[in-house]
Amino acid sequence: MAVTRTFSIIKPDATRRNLTGGVTKMLEEAGLRVVASKRIHMTREQAEGFYAVHKERPFFQDLVAFMISGPVVVQVLEGEDAVSRNREVMGATNPENAAEGTIRKTYAESIEANSVHGSDSEENAATEIAFFFKPEEIVG
Ligand code: ADP
Ligand code: MG
Repeated sequence: MAVTRTFSIIKPDATRRNLTGGVTKMLEEAGLRVVASKRIHMTREQAEGFYAVHKERPFFQDLVAFMISGPVVVQVLEGEDAVSRNREVMGATNPENAAEGTIRKTYAESIEANSVHGSDSEENAATEIAFFFKPEEIVG
């Protein structure tokens, strides 16, 4: 299987509880390597742009408010089949449905404050990485 990249966000509920290291440890133990990382406080425009695919969903405004409620850590992860490997270790969107040992089962507070974002396809990973990182900020 090919080494590929995916995009991850450690969300405000996790940074608030000082879980940047805890989440990153779980990503690394799942075989993913952090090849870019920065802590930022998203603007409303950034959050709306990033989640534009969800703008018709009823939870869109709440989601944007949550994502700008505190700092986040945006990351590029590299590994074999990185998109699906990351989705696996993240667990289901709703932590109540997430499998034991996943990040969301371990740390998430709710379906909204669910600690991590991860790209859902290779195509979206490329778009999301480019949204936050310049090529020279990614060092594999
Ligand atoms: P995922 O993050 O697992 O890919 P989605 O792409 O469907 O899930 O949703 C994006 C984010 O929107 C979720 O991670 C979560 O923070 C929020 N969200 C999803 N569904 C709901 C919901 N029903 N109510 C509130 N927030 C939600
Ligand atoms: Mg998604």
